[in-house]
Formats: sequence, structure tokens, C-alpha cells
Amino acid sequence: MAETSPKKRKPMIGLQPEGDVDWSEYRGVLVVVEQRAGVAKPVSWQLIGEAKRLAEKLAAPVSALVMGANVSSLAQEAIYYGADVVYVCDAPELEHYRTRPYSRVCLHVIRQFKPEIVLMGATNTGRDLAGAIATHLPTGLTADSTELDVDEDRLLLASRPAFSEKMLATILCKQFKPQMATARAGVFAPNPRDTSRTGEVVVVAPQMNPDEIATEVIEFLEEQKKVNLQDAEVIVAGGRGLGSPAAFELLRELADALGGVVGASRAVVDMGWISHDHQVGQTGVTVRPKLYIAVGISGAVQHVVGMQNSTWIVAINKDPDAPIFKIAHYGLVGDLFQLVPALTKAVKSRKANGQSATAGVSGPTT
Ligand SMILES: Cc1cc2nc3c(=O)[nH]c(=O)nc-3n(C[C@H](O)[C@H](O)[C@H](O)COP(=O)(O)OP(=O)(O)OC[C@H]3O[C@@H](n4cnc5c(N)ncnc54)[C@H](O)[C@@H]3O)c2cc1C
Repeated sequence: MAETSPKKRKPMIGLQPEGDVDWSEYRGVLVVVEQRAGVAKPVSWQLIGEAKRLAEKLAAPVSALVMGANVSSLAQEAIYYGADVVYVCDAPELEHYRTRPYSRVCLHVIRQFKPEIVLMGATNTGRDLAGAIATHLPTGLTADSTELDVDEDRLLLASRPAFSEKMLATILCKQFKPQMATARAGVFAPNPRDTSRTGEVVVVAPQMNPDEIATEVIEFLEEQKKVNLQDAEVIVAGGRGLGSPAAFELLRELADALGGVVGASRAVVDMGWISHDHQVGQTGVTVRPKLYIAVGISGAVQHVVGMQNSTWIVAINKDPDAPIFKIAHYGLVGDLFQLVPALTKAVKSRKANGQSATAGVSGPTT
């Protein structure tokens, strides 16, 4: 979607701020850190990396909010990944995610410290929490962003696919603060973890009346996910070139040998060869593994947007002109039915000799 200058945009119709509101007190970018059982979701560090980039343009600080039970150690991690200030709320009521207590803490921090931008992961939790907070403040929220920027008027330009994913819409919140967005995991790069960084930790403890918390967690059942692509370091993904669902077994063997998981293109998901949670791309998951092996995948743009940020990309395709080779660091031209078993054999034999399958893997230098 063509981006117009903010000065030419028509004023928004609908909700208007009451009276004259001075938004100038609102400064900086706040990232809400998502954790489960004290382990942060990678999207949190990715968003702090992106927040840092935005904050540099705004000449403003990056803050992070850590909430949960026994999560104080995450404050230091947030600083290592780029936060200047971390607000920590460590309370037993926050052991499991629940909308009311979590949104109460967020609202307290936002109202007290007034960030101009608030970012969260577009995860199940982030989507729920961001919607609740935006409604309470009230302010605007762009869900599921894939690009973030700021303009000369300090407005957040949050872009996301729109109209059946055929266009990229840039959405602004011109009349309210903070400007809020959730962003897809795997889209942004985290800053390298820098243990020499220092920052300020601020403990926050808003009053939480248990009677106000409408829900109680009786039992926590871990979802039996078939595959976790977002946190995988190695993904071996298959496309239509596999010819049949049975051929995914070849990819599973290679993925197992490399300690990775199996991904897929939409073509094979649409044909019912593998479930949708394996799909990488615009309408699937965005991934950022250390190694992505694309097998029998042509490299359509809708697939590439979901995996192009992988550290190393290896493509196996019998067509030397397949577009996937344009973004691959290594290309193997040939029949996957010969190349994949040969690779699996080589990886297994390295491991049998006591060598790591991915020893020396750091990242491309160019
Ligand atoms: C709105 C929209 C959203 C979309 N979202 C996504 C998305 O999220 N993810 C996604 O993947 N796609 C998405 N698509 C679909 C995308 O445009 C492509 O159609 C799809 O990615 C193609 O899948 P493929 O590469 O597996 O199949 P193909 O394009 O058919 O490619 C198969 C490849 O296998 C190779 N091959 C065949 N046999 C062998 C062999 N024996 N050995 C080696 N190589 C072989 C061929 O040379 C070919 O390059 C979307 C499309 C639209 C319109």
C-alpha cells in the first residue's frame, strides 16, 4: 500500500481524545516481555532489538516490562538484549497468564511511565493482552505487524499484510498514546546478548485485589503442539517436489539427525500432506533458525518472506533456475531422493565419529 505523508492524511473519524490532551510527556518504547515458567519467548528479545532501532530514531530510551512469578532474573537478560530500563512485577498472582492481573500491571506501568510506543509479540498471550490494554487506555492497536518504523512526527508506522495478505497496509495511531502494536515472532533480529550492558531495574507492585481477578487457574495443561518451528534452530522444509506425503519421512530422518524439525510450503499443506502448523511463510509461521534446508521448494515470494532471515539457507532443487537459489547460501542442484538420504548419511557418520553435525556453524560473512 502506498505510504502517504502524515501531513496529507485525513484526520481520523471516530473516537476522539477528551479535551486538550498533552501527549508530549509520552516518551520511549516499551516492550512487554513474554515468559512462561521463567523462560522468555524469543520474540521478546527480537522486539527489544527492534525497539532499540526505533528508539534511536526517536532519541528516546527503550524500556521492558517483565511480569510473572520468580521472574526477576529476566530483568538482567532484558538489559543484555538492549533495554535501558526494566520494570519488574514479581507476584504469585502472575504465575500463570491471566488477562486481568497482567493487564492491570501493564496499565499501571503505562500510566505511570508513559511510553509513546508499546510493543508485544503477536502470540496468543500478546494478542489477548494487547487488545485488553488498548481498550482500557483507550488507544489504537495494530495487530500482527511485520514491519515497524517511525516518522518525523514520532508516529509509529506499523505495517501488516492486509486484504487476504495481498497488500501491506501501514497503520498509524495519530490521536492517542501510547501507540501500540503486536509483531510476529521471527520477523525482527534480536541484538547480540551483551553482558557488559547495564541498565536500571524498577520494581513495580500495583495493588491486586484477588476478588477482582475473575478467573482461577486450576490446572495447566501443556498444549500438544505437533511442531515448534519458531524456536527451532534447524528446519528441514519440504515442498511439492517431494511428490507425496510419504517422502516427508526422508526429511524427518535428516531433521532428526540434525536435531531439527520439519517445515513445509503451503502447497503441500493445501494438499493435506502435512498439517498447517508446519507451514512457513506469509500465511504460515515466520522463522529464523540457524539452518534452513529447503527441499523441493521453488522459492515463491510468499514462502521466502517467512524464512529469508535464517542464518544459513541450503536449497535442494532439481531446477537450477528455481528462485530459491537466489536467496540460498548453498544450493544443491539435483534429485532430492538422492541428495537428502546422502546428506542424512553424512550427518550421521559425522556424529558417529564424535563430531557435531553443525560444528563451526556461525553465519554467512556476506
Ligand atoms: C495470499 C497467498 C499466501 C501464500 N502464503 C504462502 C505461505 O505462507 N507459504 C508458502 O510456502 N506458500 C504460500 N503461498 C503459495 C506460494 O505462492 C507458492 O504457491 C508455494 O510456496 C509453492 O510451494 P512449493 O515451492 O512447494 O511448490 P512448487 O512451486 O510447485 O515448487 C516445487 C519445486 O520442487 C522442485 N522439484 C520437483 N521435483 C524435485 C525433485 N525430485 N528433486 C528436487 N527438486 C524437485 C521443482 O523444481 C520446484 O522448484 C501463498 C500464496 C498466496 C497467493
